[in-house]
Amino acid sequence: MADLVPVTCPSCFEEIEVAAPSLDETPCEVDYDCEVCCRPMVIRFYEWDGEITGDAAGLGE
Ligand SMILES: [Zn+2]
Repeated sequence: MADLVPVTCPSCFEEIEVAAPSLDETPCEVDYDCEVCCRPMVIRFYEWDGEITGDAAGLGE
């Protein structure tokens, strides 16, 4: 069962929910296209206090 992690899109600043990888796969980076504006971003997933957190960055930043 995948957890959904809220991530703020760096292009349109809408909050979307992304299926997180399992805890033992973090930290990792995943390419993702925003569901709202369809622009690409890179989401970095990492463990924080026992839960998976995601930070999104636009490409080229
Ligand atoms: Zn967006």
